[in-house]
Formats: sequence, C-alpha cells, structure tokens
Amino acid sequence: MTPRTILLAGGGHAHVEVLRRFGERPERAVSLVLVSPDRFTPYSGMLPGLVAGHYSHDQAHIDLEPLAARAGARFVRDRIAALDADGRAATTASGERIAFDLVSLDVGSVPDMRFPGAREHATGVKPVDAFLARWEQVRSDASAGRVGRMAVVGGGAGGVEVLLAMHHRLSKDAPARVPRFVLVSDRTNLPGPANRALLAKLRAAGVELHLGRGAERFDAQGVTLAGGEHVAADVVFCATPATAAPWLAASGLACDDRGFVRIDDHLRSPTHPQVFAAGDCASQIGRVHPRSGVYAVRQGPPLAANLRAAATGTPLATYVPQGRALALVSTGGRHAVAVWGRWSVAGRWVWRWKDRIDRRFVARYRVDGKARAG
Ligand SMILES: Cc1cc2nc3c(=O)[nH]c(=O)nc-3n(C[C@H](O)[C@H](O)[C@H](O)COP(=O)(O)OP(=O)(O)OC[C@H]3O[C@@H](n4cnc5c(N)ncnc54)[C@H](O)[C@@H]3O)c2cc1C
Repeated sequence: MTPRTILLAGGGHAHVEVLRRFGERPERAVSLVLVSPDRFTPYSGMLPGLVAGHYSHDQAHIDLEPLAARAGARFVRDRIAALDADGRAATTASGERIAFDLVSLDVGSVPDMRFPGAREHATGVKPVDAFLARWEQVRSDASAGRVGRMAVVGGGAGGVEVLLAMHHRLSKDAPARVPRFVLVSDRTNLPGPANRALLAKLRAAGVELHLGRGAERFDAQGVTLAGGEHVAADVVFCATPATAAPWLAASGLACDDRGFVRIDDHLRSPTHPQVFAAGDCASQIGRVHPRSGVYAVRQGPPLAANLRAAATGTPLATYVPQGRALALVSTGGRHAVAVWGRWSVAGRWVWRWKDRIDRRFVARYRVDGKARAG
C-alpha cells in the first residue's frame, strides 16, 4: 500500500507532540512532511523568561530537526505561502509544491499590526525570531544610552509579561540607563484576577500606564492613541490581539470572521475532511477559549491520534477543550502570578512552580537519543 502523505504545516505546540508520538510509534501507512521556517521553535511559556535572561535560547526552544528525523518526517525549512485545500497541495515561499493526502495546520498567529505606520515603526512580539533579533538590538542601544522611552502596545498577559521581562533585563544590563517604559492598552483593566498583582509590579517598575485608549497610529516618535494624544517612544513593541495568516482564508477552507480556520470536535475542517488544524490558527466551533499555548499543547495528543486514524481509516476521537486553564504569568524577576478562574496568587514560589512545569515540557521534546514517554 502506498503510504498516505500527511503534511504538517508549522512546528507549533501541537505539532511537536504529533512528531513525538509518531516517533514513539511509527505508522507504516503514513509518510510525514514537516514545513517550518525555523529549525528551533520557541516555547511560549519560556519566552518572557528568555527575554528576562532567565533562560538561554536553547533552553526556551525545541529543536525540530531531531524530532522530525525520529518521526521519519521529511523536514522542509520553508514557510507555506499558499494552500489549495480542494487540490490537496501547498506551495512554499520558495515555490516548492507539496501534495498531500492530509494536512494539519499549526502555524500560530501574529499580533495585529494593521494600524497606519505599525509595520514601519513597531515590532510585533511574533514571529518570535524577528522579535528576538530586534530585542537584542534594543538591548545594545539601551546600554549605550540611545533609548529614552520604550512602549509596549497591548495589555494582555503576553504584553505585560514581555514589558516586565524587558524592564528586568535592561535593569540588569545597565542600571543607570534603564529607559522609561510605557504600556498602552485599549482595555481599562489588566487581565482578570491578576490585575492587582500586575499593576503593583508595573508601578514598582515606574511604568507609565495608558489604559482605556488603544493605539491608532504609529510614527518614528511614538504612538497616537484614540482621541489624539501622542505618546512618545523611541522603541515600540506590539503585543496586540492575534491575527491569522491571510493565506488561510484564501485556501478555500471555512474560516471564522477573523480568518482563523474553523474546526470541529475532531480538530478537522467541517468543509474539508482532509484538513486538520490546531493552536492559535484554529477556531473550534462552539468552543470559545483564549488563544494560548496551553490549549495548543492540549490539542497535540488528540490531533496525533486523529491524523493517525484518518490515515488508516479508523474512527476519530472527539476533543473537548477544558473550560478554564491555569495561567502562570511571570513578572520580570523570578516571580509570577497564578490565575485559575477568579482566583489568583502571586509569589516567588509560583515562578519556581512555573519554571518546573516549563522545563519539564521542553524536556519531553529533547531527543538526545531517547525522547521521554508521557
Ligand atoms: C509574549 C507572549 C507570551 C506568551 N506567554 C504564554 C504563556 O505563558 N502561556 C501560554 O499558554 N501562552 C502564552 N502565549 C500565547 C502563545 O504564544 C500562543 O498561544 C501559542 O504559541 C500558540 O501555539 P501554536 O502552536 O498555535 O503556534 P506557535 O507556537 O506560534 O507555532 C507556530 C509555528 O508555525 C510556524 N509558522 C508560522 N507561519 C508558518 C507558515 N506560513 N508555514 C510554516 N510554518 C509557519 C512558526 O514559525 C512557529 O514555529 C504568549 C504569547 C506571547 C506573544
């Protein structure tokens, strides 16, 4: 029997688990192809810690190459530029056409940069490699005293975490030259029950808060808010809400009104049974939850099982996401806030707890001759 080709588009949080599981239990009826622009995929939980200097690049990234090799997957270092869902083929940015029997999409999302001047004068916190490159440049400029004010636009957990991580790192790099930090958010409050603890940390770091008015325009001098006030900044990072890659909606797949791929409880497109999707790029019909790594990670095992089942013609499993998830929000130093529903608690022990969870997660995907079971 000719093996069925499963194209894994993106090396996100769900696909690392798919690779791990196919590596643990190879499927003769399946030929895997992984397309990812990067060999090293960042683990979102450790990204603020990487910025803050608590982790090295290697500690906060998963190496896709050995993971793909162990699963017998052909690794194409490129990005998907177009998908023909009906024609069962994808085209990469360099023009390679990859035909598939099944495709699984785990390509993440990027912050909304569709404001005038944003692409020219600000940097999104994703794609992570571009963000980290810009961050290294900002560190060296700040140490040389060339950055007076820095703004983060977006007051969700990710934006606050990144701002506090950057402040922490620059305070260590050159304590006498720490820029003044600014947080801009269209929300009047920071995320839910963590509000008080995060506000206290932001105030302790001397952060200037502009809450309740979103950014409308970006220029070389900073950000103009709704209502017209201009907030000066030499450097601006965007942690605005997630947006979907435009090629997803152009693929012929059913998408929601924001361009994210609709999936059913089998993590499969309701219109194209040969297409599966997970993580930030997908919207599970009737199941509303935040776009966070926690949910992408949880989709990994059922996605792996359903890709295997679809390839071998066995019944698909149903996946119902958890109603709420534990959020562990770091605050720059080795301190974090834990949020569960309406309950929250903060402390250095919370950071140590988060640190243990995050290190254990990444270790599962280190091949080193023996991948860990779980
Ligand atoms: C600063 C920050 C901190 C965060 N902290 C947390 C946290 O602590 N906990 C948490 O749960 N969530 C956190 N999040 C949210 C989290 O990052 C995302 O929800 C999570 O990464 C989604 O996982 P994913 O698998 O969908 O996509 P990703 O992890 O983004 O992976 C997508 C992969 O696809 C690749 N890709 C992109 N486009 C293409 C293409 N065209 N072709 C092929 N490959 C492509 C990318 O290179 C990437 O490797 C944070 C987000 C930010 C911005």
